[in-house]
Formats: sequence, C-alpha cells, structure tokens
Amino acid sequence: MDSTEIVGKLSLLIKRAKLAADLVKRQKKAIRILAHYDADGLTSSSIVIKALRREGKSFHLSNIKQIRNDYIEELKNSKYELIIFLDFGSGSLEKINELEDKDVILIDHHQKQGEPGPRIIFVNPVDFGIGEDISSSGVSYLFARALDPSNKDLSEIAIVGAIGDAQIGSIGKEWGLMGINKEILQDAVETKKIKKTKGLRIWGRGTRPIHKALEYSLDPYIPGVSGSESKAVQFLKEIGIELKKGAEWRTLSDLSTEEEKKLASAIIIERIHSKHENPDWIFGDIYELLDKKKVASTANEFATMVNACGKTGKNYTGIGICVNDLQSLEEVKKILEEYRRELGSGISWIYSNPEATIKKEHANYVLVGSKISEHLISNVISIVSKNQDKVLFGLADADDGVKISSRCGEEDVKKGINLKEIMEASTKMFGCEGGGHKGAAGGTIPKGKEAEFISIAEGLLSSMKSVFLEDSTEKNEEEGKESNINNQTDKDYGSTETTRKGTAGRTKGTESSSSSDSKKMERKGLVQYFGS
Ligand code: C5P
Repeated sequence: MDSTEIVGKLSLLIKRAKLAADLVKRQKKAIRILAHYDADGLTSSSIVIKALRREGKSFHLSNIKQIRNDYIEELKNSKYELIIFLDFGSGSLEKINELEDKDVILIDHHQKQGEPGPRIIFVNPVDFGIGEDISSSGVSYLFARALDPSNKDLSEIAIVGAIGDAQIGSIGKEWGLMGINKEILQDAVETKKIKKTKGLRIWGRGTRPIHKALEYSLDPYIPGVSGSESKAVQFLKEIGIELKKGAEWRTLSDLSTEEEKKLASAIIIERIHSKHENPDWIFGDIYELLDKKKVASTANEFATMVNACGKTGKNYTGIGICVNDLQSLEEVKKILEEYRRELGSGISWIYSNPEATIKKEHANYVLVGSKISEHLISNVISIVSKNQDKVLFGLADADDGVKISSRCGEEDVKKGINLKEIMEASTKMFGCEGGGHKGAAGGTIPKGKEAEFISIAEGLLSSMKSVFLEDSTEKNEEEGKESNINNQTDKDYGSTETTRKGTAGRTKGTESSSSSDSKKMERKGLVQYFGS
C-alpha cells in the first residue's frame, strides 16, 4: 500500500469520525459511555471524556470486561439517547444492533463480526482497509480532533494507549511506532507533550530493575544473559554498572548516557561473539513524556501504570492519571507494586507447577484454574510465552466461564499462525466470544470445556500450518518466475531492496506501510485534515 492509498483511507476514517463528532455536538442530554477496561480502553475513555468535558457535555462512563446481554437490555430501557462504545463492540454488532431506538457511536480497532445497523456510526479503521498501527485510543483521538482541532494535546494519551496495546513494531533496524501512530506522535511532539529520542530498546526502561530488564529481554536477545537473573547480575557487575542506588534498584532510565553506551557496547559484543545476525539492532525510539513526567518518564512506563490500574480493577485511578489528576499518583504507585507482586507470583506458580501445563504437538496450554486471576492471565501469559518455542494458551477460571489468553511469536505468525482466527472460531463453537490479533488473542469458553477447546485449537493450528506450507510452496514457484522481472526492474530503474526488506522484516502492521511510506506520511501529518 503506497502513501497516497494510506492517506486516502485515513481521510475516509476521519470523515467517519467527523460524523460521530457532529452527532455528539447535537446531543443535549447526558451521553452513556461503555468502554473496555484494558490500557487501550482506559486511554480511549480518558481522551473521549476530556473532549466531551471541553464541549460542555455530560456523560456516564463504565469500564468493563466485555459487552454482556444484560448490559444491552439495561441500555435499551435507559434514558440515554446516545451511547458510545470504546475499544470493543465490533465483535458484538448483532447485540448492539438491538439498540434500535438509540444513536450509537462505536469507536474501535478490532475486526468486526456482522454489519453495523443504520443508527450506528462505526468509527473503525478496519472498514477502510487499515489493519494495524492504530489503536482504539488513536481512533478516539481522531474523534476528539474532529470535535475540535484544539484537542491536539490529547495525542499524548493516544500514544500511551498505542503502546499499551503493544503497537510498537519494527522495520529492520527501526523500532518504534509506525504508520498512523507516527502521525499521532507527530502531534504529541508538536504540542510539546512527548520528545522522541533513541536508546536501548529494552522493555521496562523506567519500571524494571536493570538486571530484570536484561533477564526478560528476548528481543533484543542478549546471549548468555537473557533468561537468567543471576547471569544478568553478573554481566552488569563485570561491566561496572551499579545495580542499586542506595536501597533502590536502578532502572535503565537511571543510567547516565555514558553508562547506557557502555551497556549497549557490551550487549553488541556478546551478540557479535555468538554470531548474532544483526548484532547492533538493539536500539529504538524512546517516547519521553514532557508534561506528565511527574507520573512517568516515558510513555511505555505510563502505559504500564494504566494497564496495572485496569488489571487490578482500579479503572478510575488509571483514567485519573491520564486526565492529569495527580492525586491519583500515590495510589497508582501502590497499584503498580501490587500488580507486579501478583504478576510475579503468577509467573512463579506456572514454573513451579509444571503439571499444570499440557504440552501438545502445536502448543502448550497452561490450566491455572483460580491460581491466577482472569484479569492477569493475559499479562502472565505474555511474559511466560517469551520463554517458549511454541504457541502458548493460558486458561483461568472467570466469572462467566474460563478466560483464555493466547500468545505466539513473530516467527509463528510468519509461519501462518493466526490466533485471532483460532480464538474467534473456537469460542464460537461454544456460543462464546473471542478475538484479537494474529499474535495475541483472547476469549471465553464455558467451564468444563477445556479439553474440548484444546483439541479444537490443536486441529486449527495444524490446518493453519499445512495451509501455510502449501501456500509457500506455490509462492516459491511463483517467485521463481517473478524474480527475473524484479532483477530487471532493479537494473533498469534502481533497487527495490529497501521496500522489500522493510515489508519482510516487519513484526507488526504489515498491512500498513513501508518505511519510506511512513516517512512521506509523517511529512504531511494530520494537519491536512484538522488544521494546526
Ligand atoms: O485478553 P487478552 O489480552 O489475551 O487479549 C489479547 C487481544 O485480544 C487484546 O487486543 C484484546 O482486546 C483482544 N480480545 C478480543 N476479544 C476477546 C478477547 C480479547 O478482541 N473476546
């Protein structure tokens, strides 16, 4: 997809956002908002309520896990004339269509199931062929800017939401936000909310003790260090980096520039010694917060805080820090500690109870029962999956059945695995719901159906792998024919290598744009739609 095509699609999405904004402007009565409770849902909520407040609109917001039939019944009989759904709803269109005599705005980025009815304004990039590189908080931001261009300052929260939704990807050496997210980032830079710098792209820059950040770092992989706490400690000691300042563990953001350079050089040397393919691909964008630095130094860290609030049921505290209520800050610090403790004990439980993991041919399935909360299972599985060479499913007891969270690596996705399709199809067989993305998806099944689910998932994984094998055999044959044409093009019109490499090396958002397209887009900016 070239840049003109992306700009065209984005302008259609913005037109849709403007329809939603017009409807809100006309609304005199209180607006009901239902939003998801994860980081993307909480940041979307923060953007929308801040924009509504600025318009002088009143609203009633609830952040919930999923849209249930009883909520729809309640909404049908409620006084509200306009209902806004944020970060969910695209998979529940049949239910939402029952709100026949209400106006509905649905702001989301998930795939849709069914078609929106006549009174739904469906603000979702999937309708315009934009697959990735925009989160619901990004779409909420487009809506807020459609309400009033002066809402440009809310771009900062959209960036936090995108990071919370794991939208950081890579094109070769480049690592950071891509495509439309980059446009939104540009707004955050222009409004002096975020400063983009470069540094070691190791997760947990401001939140994890350095040795823990190195231990958990699998991308970039640090040979001999990743996966082992004791080796990470030894590595840091050998290069002379202090682990603590007083009684406090130091994080990467506490390192001086000199120390960070020393650490980066040592990591590159380890990678060269172990003949790693791209030893110096260890740097990436750092999104430094300028306005919210009292809360967190980087957008990644801020996203971790918002996520922790959602996962521990403290939704309004998470929204509080997004909308500048600094009174929430002390509470958030406690929440983060509690969240880390729970996460740590969940991870240890999985490792110390190996019998809870059912190892099958195509995936591993961890049955945690009530040992890990349904709200935390996805985060635990995200971390544990990094140490697995197979797809990982986590199954936890939930209020309404068994919550399933699944994760797989970039390599699996390249080999044709699509967890979104697996979760959608398998949960549907039990009359339940599932969805998500190719490498990360979730859903619910009824209690007692775990074994059945495992055999369905194994079947689906097996057929995805064989379809991929068949396709790639055919493609290789086709490419054999095509390569002659490409070689000729390279010779006659200049190399196409950059574009090809960019697309192939991409971890997320392959549907969006190549590196050069993103750069062209960035120059145009969102200004063309909203003004500066
Ligand atoms: O719940 P979990 O974090 O494992 O979900 C992974 C991804 O799948 C998230 O983006 C989430 O929004 C999405 N999801 C979904 N429908 C569900 C459950 C999860 O779209 N029923």
